Order: sequence, then C-alpha cells, then structure tokens
Amino acid sequence: MSDILIRHSGRAGRITLTRAKALNAMSYEMCRQIEAALLEWRDDPAVALVLIDAEGDRAFCAGGDIAELYARGIAGDFAYGQTFWRDEYRLNALIAEYPKPVVTLMQGFTMGGGVGIGCHAGHRVVCENSQISMPECGIGLVPDVGGSFLLARAPGRLGEYLGLTAARMGPADAILAGFADLYVPQAHWPGIIAALEQDGEVDALLAAAVTPPEGTLAVSLAEIDALFAGERLRDVVNALRASDSAFATQALTALGRNAPLSMACTLEILHRLRQGTPSVRKALELEYRFTHRAMEHGDLLEGIRAAIIDKDRTPAWKHSLDTVPLTGMAAMLQPLRGVRLDFHEEKTMMNIAFIGLGNMGGPMATNLYRAGHHVTGYDTASVAVQGVSSAHSAVDAVDGADVVITMLPNGDILRSVANEIIPAMKPGAVFLDCSTVDVESARAVAAQAEAAGLLPLDAPVSGGIGGATAGTLTFMVGGSDDALAKAAPLLDIMGQKTVHCGASGNGQAAKICNNMILGVTMIATCEAFALADKLGLDRQAMFDVVSTSSGYSWSMNAYCPAPGIGPKSPADNGYAPGFAADLMLKDLRLSQQAAEAADADTPLGQAATDLYRRFVEEEDGKGRDFSAMLPRFEGRRRG
Ligand code: NAD
Repeated sequence: MSDILIRHSGRAGRITLTRAKALNAMSYEMCRQIEAALLEWRDDPAVALVLIDAEGDRAFCAGGDIAELYARGIAGDFAYGQTFWRDEYRLNALIAEYPKPVVTLMQGFTMGGGVGIGCHAGHRVVCENSQISMPECGIGLVPDVGGSFLLARAPGRLGEYLGLTAARMGPADAILAGFADLYVPQAHWPGIIAALEQDGEVDALLAAAVTPPEGTLAVSLAEIDALFAGERLRDVVNALRASDSAFATQALTALGRNAPLSMACTLEILHRLRQGTPSVRKALELEYRFTHRAMEHGDLLEGIRAAIIDKDRTPAWKHSLDTVPLTGMAAMLQPLRGVRLDFHEEKTMMNIAFIGLGNMGGPMATNLYRAGHHVTGYDTASVAVQGVSSAHSAVDAVDGADVVITMLPNGDILRSVANEIIPAMKPGAVFLDCSTVDVESARAVAAQAEAAGLLPLDAPVSGGIGGATAGTLTFMVGGSDDALAKAAPLLDIMGQKTVHCGASGNGQAAKICNNMILGVTMIATCEAFALADKLGLDRQAMFDVVSTSSGYSWSMNAYCPAPGIGPKSPADNGYAPGFAADLMLKDLRLSQQAAEAADADTPLGQAATDLYRRFVEEEDGKGRDFSAMLPRFEGRRRG
C-alpha cells in the first residue's frame, strides 16, 4: 500500500499521509509526491484550497526517515541526505509561500520533518493530543525544514528554549510559539473537512476554533527570556547552572542530552535570522549549510546510531557543553561553495558594477558572478578577474547597474570615485561601499549619494582575503533598511554574516573599533609569546592554556602568530599576508583619527598605532603580515 493518498475531493486538493504504523514518517518519495501535487494544483482553477492530514491517532508526522539516512551515510553516501534535504526544503518553502489556502490537521506527534509539512501552512490546526517539537539537536542536526524560521519568530527567547531542549509543545504552547493557529477538538474534524471540500473556503474552520486548555509555557516566558538570552551556548549553560529553579535544572538536563555543536549552531542561526526580518528562505538556506555537512563533519551519524540503531542513548558527541569552538561552528555555517537551494523560481539576476578589483574586490566579484549575477568591473590597474567583464572607466561600469560596489584603498580615493560615478548611476540603485575608510568620508559620500536619489550603504568587512575568496566575510553595515534589504542577497553570497549597525557611517565605526581591539590583542599575544619564550615555557603549552583560558582571543585561537601552533595562519607561511601590517596601521590610524574627532580616550589604541607605525615605517614590517610582530618582539630586550 502506498504511504500517501493524493486526490481531488470537491474543491479541495487532498493529501493524506497513510503510513500510520511508522508514525507517518516522511520518506523521500512522499516528499516528492507532495511537491508534485502542490505544483499541479497551484495553477488548477478546480482546486480552491489544499488540505493535508494523516491517518492514525498517534501522529500527523513524527519526522523524517532517519534510518535510511543512516544506512546511506554510514556507507559514505552523503549525497543521498543532501539531496533529500534540498528537495524537502524546497517543498517546505513551497508550502510556506503557497498562493492558495493550505490547511493542516495535526493530531498526535508532529516532529522534525512533520513540522516542515504541517507548520508552514496558512491554517495550522491542533487538537487535544497534539504534541509538536523540533528534536533535531538530540540527533546532531539543527532544527531544520524551516523550523528555525518559526523558532526565530517565537516570542522572546522561547525559540532558543524549544530548539535547544527539544521540548514538546501541547496545543496551547504550539499556538503560543507560532507553530499552530487554531485549536479545534478532533471530534469536529470530519465536519470541518466536509465543509472545506464543499465550500473551498476556510470560514467554517475559523468558526469552529475554540480556546485550547491552558499550556505550560506561558508562565515560564520571563524565566526563559532570562535563561536563554546568551550570545553563545556557553552563556546559556552558565545561566542555567547559576539558577536553582526546577525549570532551569530540567532544561540543563535536556541540554546535557543533546549535541553541543548542534545547539551552538542553532543559537547562531536564530541570532542571524533575527538580524534582519526572518524569512523562511533565509532560514532554510542557513539550515542547509549545516545539514549538508552534518553527516561528514557533524554529529549526525553518531546521534542516529545512539538513538535508533544501537539504542544505547549514550552518543559520543564531538564536543562538550563548554568546549564548542567558534571555529567549529563557523565551519558548519559558512556558505556552501557551488551549492544553492533553488526555490521554484527564476533567480533575480542583478547587474552589478564592481570598482576596485584588488586582493579583496577580485574574489568578491568572482563570487557574485558564480552566483549568477552579471558583473562589470573597473580598476585603475589593469586586472583580469574571473567572470567580470571590464569597463573602460568607472562611469562606464556603473551605467545601468542595480548595485555599485566599491572596494578601494582609502577615503580620499572613495570620495573621488564617488564624485565621478554618482551622477552616472541609475536612480534608486544601491551604492555599496565595502572599503575600510574614515567615518567622515563614509558619511559625506552617503549624503551625496542620498541627495542624488541613490541608496547608500557603508559595509566594511572582516575576514581578509581568505574570507573574500571563500565567501565568508562579515559585513558591518551602516545605512537604511531599504538599502540593506536590496543589497542583502549579495551580502549573503559574499559573506556569512551581516550586522546592521545603524545609520550611515556606523559600519565604518564598528570596523575601526573592532580592528583597534584586534591590533591591541595581536600585540599583547605576541608580547606574551616572546615573554613565555624567555621564561622557558613551551609555545604549544602556552597555546593550550591561553586558547582555553581567559586570555583567549581571535589573535590567539584563530590566527596564532607562532609558527606551527594552532590552526594554519600566515605565521606558517613566513608571515606573508594575510592581513598586512600596513593595512592594520591604516585601520589603527583611522581609529585614532575618529577618537580625536569624538574626543575619546584610547591609550592602548594609540600605543598600538605607534608600535605598528614604527614596525611598518622604520623596521621590517612593510609587506609582512600583522602577526609578524612576534618575530619583532623575539629579538628585543626590555627598554
Ligand atoms: P588592494 O590594494 O589589493 O585593492 C585596491 C584596488 O583598488 C587596487 O586594485 C587598485 O588598483 C584599485 N584602485 C585604486 N584607486 C582606484 C580608482 N580610483 N578607481 C578604481 N580602482 C582603484 O587592497 P585590498 O586588500 O583589496 O583592500 C581593499 C579595501 O578593503 C581597503 O579599504 C582595505 O582596508 C579593506 N580590507 C582589506 C582586507 C585585507 O585583508 N586585504 C581586509 C579587510 C578590509
């Protein structure tokens, strides 16, 4: 017998899951059949609405078919899961964005993959025994099938709580969290179905909804907000440990069962989704970055093994609650090279002009081309960049462009390029400056662009040439919401994170503050290594202690200045940049220029500027990586 029944009934397109013995778990075949039906009915005037329900009392759909995933994955076939998720996520988006009403009737368990089918519909119905949850962190995944979109929109930090603990929601809690809309006792369902089929409208359904019996979560919302507000998993765990309430103890026990890498990435996904307006597509795209890698690089196979293969319930996770490294999390969530989810529509191709195709601009422009955009470039040096057609001048390049991106050496050059191109740009186009420049120049150029009817953004980056090439930059953005909304798809291609820092100039302000910290911590790290050498402390031991103690920093943990220690860095390549000391000096000077203009006291920023100035202008620092401060200190004596 088939696992699914698809038919027309009256004015409704009907989909019934008929795999009740397996709690209606979603197989790949079922997923493909639902998608085909929805696509057919989308343009069929005989179908006024779609109704999705399931046989059996125990479950609407208790998840995806993870036994099959395991069998394929353990044999080294990761492509099966990657294809399943890709096609399933496309279906989830189709349901969320369906142009006709979709009604889902969710009795019993709706979990994981079931949420993707049931909880994105326009009218989501629960009843007395409904139990909804996102249990993915328990098997080494993240809440997926668009579940992170729902979690990101749940009130306060409820999404974090539900995603990390995998707690089950009864009917009232599911409505509170935004996973369901309507409570209708199950005895009324046959009558409702008949009315939906006959009318092709949802009025009878809406009229039948009543208030559900009280749930358990509403009274705990304030406590959830306090406990789950942390930026990182460790912060949440610490908050739970510090509380002696029964609720916190229970939540901590739940976290103790789940995969730490999955929970850390879940938090990060929710935070990223809330940085702009969450959308189901953005959620699915972020989730897919994780699930695509989950078998090979995450805990998924071990999680499934412990849960349903050996059933020992003692998974050996890769990390503990306190030791998920930021680098491990970034590796799971960085963009997938050459793999994109396709959502049933033509991609909106943009015409992009890219001015300044140097070390950073070149690879950024190529990534835009690879994602299907048309890129015209201009650089005063004659450079050939893959996928970029070159224009004879900056003015030629911007002709007809929807978005103009600049990646230039400094504020003076930016101002002079802006003077040239602003009058030639198409009204309403975005002027996206990604260079690192002084705040004043950024604000002056933004004002000039705005006066000309353009949408300016200052969006300096961190992540260096490696990040530009891999498409993993972080953008710090100043400018309007409208401008950012237009540029966001491009920022998503070139980077893995975008932070909207406020009005024009604030992106540059964030960048120079960040780099002032970086300059200071790199010097401190190098000084400490040189001191440790003289005290006879082994460098590896020094790294092992500091990278996991209160002296840890990006300079130590991710970009260690000592050759052969920590992850690969420019120190392992003879200190070839990387991030050149000259560029660090430029950024430190910008920070001191801004500090002076704002009358801010920054003595360590000033000291770092002086040291890098001497290093670059009087010593051998020019052209070397900024971490080459370590060999500089090695040879020096106190004085
Ligand atoms: P780069 O010198 O390699 O590239 C700048 C490019 O701009 C050059 O190719 C140059 O020919 C071109 N250019 C100069 N004047 C021009 C003009 N008037 N019209 C057109 N093109 C012109 O520098 P980069 O490393 O690519 O850095 C670019 C920006 O990114 C800088 O503001 C830098 O501070 C910032 N940044 C660099 C890094 C890094 O690691 N390299 C990291 C973060 C931010």
